[in-house]
Amino acid sequence: MSTVGTSLCTSCGLCCSGALFPRTVLKREELSWARGKQLLDVLDDARGASFAQPCGLLDARKCVAYEERPAVCRSYQCKLLRALEAGEITMEAAQAKVQRLQDIYARVSQLVTPTSVEALLDLGELQALADRDFRDPPT
Ligand code: SF4
Ligand code: SF4
Repeated sequence: MSTVGTSLCTSCGLCCSGALFPRTVLKREELSWARGKQLLDVLDDARGASFAQPCGLLDARKCVAYEERPAVCRSYQCKLLRALEAGEITMEAAQAKVQRLQDIYARVSQLVTPTSVEALLDLGELQALADRDFRDPPT
């Protein structure tokens, strides 16, 4: 990843926060590492090994275990990061998209009534933006 890409990711953290994914997938050989981290909620079942998001190693928007993070964390590149790396979007525009999704996710997280109209509208917008700018379609 380029310096500019690293700069975007260390000011984002959306793929670790629960905004995009419910869990982080682990390789089997990473299980003992994860179990050694008291801040991680590790699961190992028939679907495989993973830990819950929001990741306990996320401090604000930065990974506190960046140098030792799991393989999926090292290799994952969302659509927005790929567009930045390809020169298709400026850093300023990319950061604005990150901030918009961060704001919506923060609002959704604070709304505790699942049937609230505002929560449902925010959830719909969150998912639409996540699909447009971050997540690839399921294969
Ligand atoms: S969501 Fe994208 S830009 Fe944000 S930290 Fe993850 S890969 Fe980087
Ligand atoms: S280990 Fe670091 S990079 Fe991986 S999900 Fe947690 S905070 Fe994100």
